Amino acid sequence: MTKLRLAIVGAGPAGIYSADILLKAERNFEVSIDLFDHLPAPYGLVRYGVAPDHPRIKGIINALRGVLDSGDIRVFGNVRFGVDVTLDDLKKHYNAVIFATGAVQDADLDIPGASLDGSYGAADFVSWFDGHPDVPRTWPLEAREIAVIGNGNVALDVSRMLVKHADDLLPTEIPANVYDGLNASPVTDVHVFGRRGPTSVKFTPLELREVGELNDVDMIVYDEDFDYDEAATAAVASNKQVFVIDKTLNQWRARETGTASRRLHLHFFAKPVEIIDDGAGRVAAFRWERTTRDGAGGVVGTGEIREIPIQAVYRAVGYFGSELPDVPFDKKRGVIPNREGQVLRRDPSAGTGGLFNQQMYGVYVSGWIKRGPVGLIGHTKSDAMETIRHLINDLGNWWRPESPSEESIVELLNARGVKYTGLDGWHNLDQHELALGEAAGRIRIKVVDRDEMVAVSRAE
Ligand SMILES: Cc1cc2nc3c(=O)[nH]c(=O)nc-3n(C[C@H](O)[C@H](O)[C@H](O)COP(=O)(O)OP(=O)(O)OC[C@H]3O[C@@H](n4cnc5c(N)ncnc54)[C@H](O)[C@@H]3O)c2cc1C
Repeated sequence: MTKLRLAIVGAGPAGIYSADILLKAERNFEVSIDLFDHLPAPYGLVRYGVAPDHPRIKGIINALRGVLDSGDIRVFGNVRFGVDVTLDDLKKHYNAVIFATGAVQDADLDIPGASLDGSYGAADFVSWFDGHPDVPRTWPLEAREIAVIGNGNVALDVSRMLVKHADDLLPTEIPANVYDGLNASPVTDVHVFGRRGPTSVKFTPLELREVGELNDVDMIVYDEDFDYDEAATAAVASNKQVFVIDKTLNQWRARETGTASRRLHLHFFAKPVEIIDDGAGRVAAFRWERTTRDGAGGVVGTGEIREIPIQAVYRAVGYFGSELPDVPFDKKRGVIPNREGQVLRRDPSAGTGGLFNQQMYGVYVSGWIKRGPVGLIGHTKSDAMETIRHLINDLGNWWRPESPSEESIVELLNARGVKYTGLDGWHNLDQHELALGEAAGRIRIKVVDRDEMVAVSRAE
């Protein structure tokens, strides 16, 4: 019987669901799957993106762990594609590869002052508060007044983490350095800015409601943003999500404020114009243009410029994928070009400007690096199904590796001195973090240092 030796690069939800779906799929060949990740712990953004005070979503890790524990998948953590293994290596040892490397960079915000000291990408801050091993341990939390640019859930996560009292995060798995950093923060006001009106936000109702329940934080919304036109009124009437958001915001309009020590302000119809320099290269103020509805579902500038003093700004305007060595990349969209998960390379006869229209046999994609950084964890499942369907149907086009044995990749990693961590290693780290948590009366305390993660995993 034919056997598919499959490499999956990226042990986030897209990679793990791809493995699970393939193992359960109807097929007339055997499979043997190796899952690689450059982090010593699996689960991608579920561990390093989803906010620590969202334990229900973090709980998805239990389902993903069930897949890994099924016994049919080998895990190679602490192995970076492009450094520790290359595409040529994979071609030598596997019949195919699925890239599920996600998106971890901040999308650019193209306004003057975006690179000033005190202007931060949301992705970097998220990595810090979720204990990502590759970001610095300390975060400069010195601002009293902060702007957060963006009207999606990441903007809400960032704002909530900035404005929430650190003690209210103690029941979560936040690392000790994150608690200490947040606990010392002098913040009083966080201002969230979005270009559109309240009926066009990308927040989900649940996440929005959650910020209204924070201890000792007043929600501030501004009456001038609630002058709805016909389209906005129709959106409230016809869309349940918009209806709940509108209801929540209007409840806050009626709430008494003034007693809390911290405030979260929501500013709508605010298009970022500039981040102002204090003369020494640091953020001093945020300038925006008031917008208005254009009657066609969008907004236009009114020419009215406003400004607010702030000492830090967080840009939560989206994530962006990273290019992988020897793998085609669409620099505009930040994704690996593909047709339903089959990776496409440029038409070689058309040079560097050619369209991505030639299937690159043996190479597949899944998750955020396939379709861009939008959508919830659940969406990566349907994504993986589509990719796996093609992988199965493409049997005749798979690579024909010269060393397909399961030992050969282990020998290669050992020969290169790569300190990979296996599934047992993850179990060791998991137990260790739970024990650290238990000793401190908490559910878990994450290990943040990469060397320590590797040492605990490998029981060294
Ligand atoms: C801040 C934030 C909060 C979120 N909150 C929620 C939420 O509450 N609920 C929800 O449903 N969704 C949430 N999401 C969305 C969710 O995280 C994504 O839908 C999902 O993680 C995408 O899965 P993925 O597997 O494509 O990518 P990822 O989860 O990013 O996994 C990619 C994996 O690839 C690995 N990798 C990358 N490059 C390499 C390389 N060169 N070599 C080896 N490995 C590599 C990475 O280490 C990572 O483990 C959130 C996203 C963000 C950014």
